[in-house]
Amino acid sequence: MTGSSATHGPEFDGVALPVPQREPLTLDTPLKKALSAPQATALLKAFAMHTVNDLLSHYPRDYADREVLRPLNQVTPGANITVIADIVSVHEKRMSSRPGTIVEVVISDGGGEFTLTFFGKNSQEWRLKQLRPGLRGSFSGKVRVYRGESQLTNPSYKTFESEEEEERDDPAVRLRRKPLIPIYAATAAEPSWNLQMMIDQVLRRIGTLPDPVPDDLRAEHGLLSHTQAIRWIHSPDDEKQWMAAQNTLRFTEAWVLQCALMQRHSLARERRTRPRVPTPGGYLERFDAALPFVLTVDQEICAVEIATDMSQSGPMNRLLQGEVGSGKTVVALRAMLAVADSGGQTALLAPTEVLAGQHLRSITTLLGPDLAAELMPTLLTGKLPVAQKRKALLRTVSGQSRIVIGTHALLSDTVTFFDLGLIVIDEQHRFGVEQRESLRLKGAEPPHVLVMTATPIPRTIAMTVFGDLDVSTIRMLPAGRQGITSIVVPLSDHPSWFQRIWTKLAEELALGRQGFVVCPAISPAEIEEGSEAATEPVSEDDKKIPLANVETVHEKLRGFAPLAEYRIEALHGRMTSDEKDRIMRAFADGEIDVLVATTVIEVGVDVPNASAMVVLDAERFGVSQLHQLRGRVGRGGVPGLCLLVTNSRTGSPARQRIGDVAATLDGFRLAELDLALRREGNVLGDMQSGEGTSLRFLRVAVDGDLIAEARQAAYHLVSGDPGIRTNPALRDAIARRLNESERTWLVKG
Ligand code: ADP
Ligand code: MG
Repeated sequence: MTGSSATHGPEFDGVALPVPQREPLTLDTPLKKALSAPQATALLKAFAMHTVNDLLSHYPRDYADREVLRPLNQVTPGANITVIADIVSVHEKRMSSRPGTIVEVVISDGGGEFTLTFFGKNSQEWRLKQLRPGLRGSFSGKVRVYRGESQLTNPSYKTFESEEEEERDDPAVRLRRKPLIPIYAATAAEPSWNLQMMIDQVLRRIGTLPDPVPDDLRAEHGLLSHTQAIRWIHSPDDEKQWMAAQNTLRFTEAWVLQCALMQRHSLARERRTRPRVPTPGGYLERFDAALPFVLTVDQEICAVEIATDMSQSGPMNRLLQGEVGSGKTVVALRAMLAVADSGGQTALLAPTEVLAGQHLRSITTLLGPDLAAELMPTLLTGKLPVAQKRKALLRTVSGQSRIVIGTHALLSDTVTFFDLGLIVIDEQHRFGVEQRESLRLKGAEPPHVLVMTATPIPRTIAMTVFGDLDVSTIRMLPAGRQGITSIVVPLSDHPSWFQRIWTKLAEELALGRQGFVVCPAISPAEIEEGSEAATEPVSEDDKKIPLANVETVHEKLRGFAPLAEYRIEALHGRMTSDEKDRIMRAFADGEIDVLVATTVIEVGVDVPNASAMVVLDAERFGVSQLHQLRGRVGRGGVPGLCLLVTNSRTGSPARQRIGDVAATLDGFRLAELDLALRREGNVLGDMQSGEGTSLRFLRVAVDGDLIAEARQAAYHLVSGDPGIRTNPALRDAIARRLNESERTWLVKG
């Protein structure tokens, strides 16, 4: 029967192999159906991949040319690498301390050499047969340093000779082989060539993939079809093909993300809610009449944007950004008063107890005694004594309190509002989208939402991360600020200046002021979490100098004569939050003169009397981080002084960076600079090496224009078709790709 081979499939030693499936694979086909069960399990374990899309989205991180070796010199210890190299020499030795053998293989990239070490319990004769000098192959494993030299221990390998043997068994192998070898991020269990083989199997069975980018947009940007891009990214004939594929996929990423954000924005707008407008002669008018200063132009503009949003029947979703002290709170308070005029309440959510308490105090002060008595701003946090908490809950549910200020405790089920009209969230970074959502549900109708952040956000980040929010920006500071003087203290040029730092600090304290000393590490052995640049030495030189750390510096300063009479305390991330709160409060109350701290000093903490900041090892902090830190001094009527102390050398990039921070107080300029500096690296770096994310080729730092174009096009599509009904491929891509973890990562950027 002629049909038998088709129904039974090929045979191997008389055993029928699984029948190849006829229908093409789709992106959502489970890997279990696309590959063998052991293969699917291996991919699930190694990379958490479930579907064909997961596997096909595992793009090569690089391509190697069979004919051209590339230098091995830049290997980082701990990295999983795959290299193409020639075997130079092979030796087997007995181990001296225990039974067994070591095979040492030296490979060459044409320039430098690199050692592979294989440990075996018995003789490794068989390995010597596989790895003979003169052969070329791929070698894959984790880089370790042994006696000062990088090497691979027990790497996986595949010589090109063994490929030729496969080819003898299956001539099709030759047809599939291309001059370029894709190099995949791999694990010990799944070396790059295994991935290549499985992807190859899947690619041969996919049909035409649906295209999330519409034809006209593809034509306009000169993009490949999605199917072509996926084929060429994994299996290019030449450099041109994978570059074209990357361009297409990069745009696709921007497009899918922007459509998702636009859609979220438009769906949120479609909900119906109550407009909140001030009443003539109401709270807002009374407040404005009593305000002891005039709003800056930026404050005015933001206030109008917010008032306009809140007068609509769709809920506001707005981000208000402006540096610490730029006057966001006043602007937000005016929105709260408009809501109060309409009979409603505002929930103000702060990231910590300390900040919630601070908001209560500043809002009460701004309102003045009469308005405060009528609007009854109330603190509602987890730490309140039971009786007080009960009272706060009662005021909230009865609507007596028009402004309720709290921490996460506001999210708890026991908190009910009489009429929640507005949610103000301070410091967006610490609240997820889900938490915003859960607060929203507390209103009978969806409340208006205003998110405030003191971290200046570059335009592209705003478009990418907060793309579902409208943005208002306060750039200028109110007039009459004393300002901050920033000075670079280069210890490598002037080691003796180290003493003068502390004398300077003592002078500030003698004026009755307070100060911070910031270190990148907690103890000699412990780096503070989130201290951006602290994990890696900036240069070779840095390795020799131990990092400034809170424990050591605290100890030293306490023993330093000019500071003897002052109260010096430590603050860092290893303390409990109660301890941190207590110290922070004592500092705010003036009971502590100097805080020796890591970056945990809170954003937004307002201690008007703090005038001096010393940042040690300033090169260990990013541009924006330094600027944020500096924002904690010079907040009251006293001028601030910030000493950026560094061991980095004149002319080095690190020194340049610190100099840039010292030279300007414009946070937006510094944020853009920060982004540009990170261009090669890490804005999305961590995320990109992670799993289950979709932004592989898009670089927020360099692709601003492309993101803006995608956003524009997304706006057109989504405003005409909010449900994206006309483009099911796009709808699926959004569902598949945009997950919350991605947003979280972006926020960290
Ligand atoms: P932010 O919340 O942005 O850190 P705040 O609203 O707390 O800033 O304002 C910081 C300080 O400046 C407050 O004491 C506030 O009363 C004051 N302030 C705000 N706006 C103005 C202004 N336009 N002119 C003068 N002072 C202002
Ligand atoms: Mg504030």
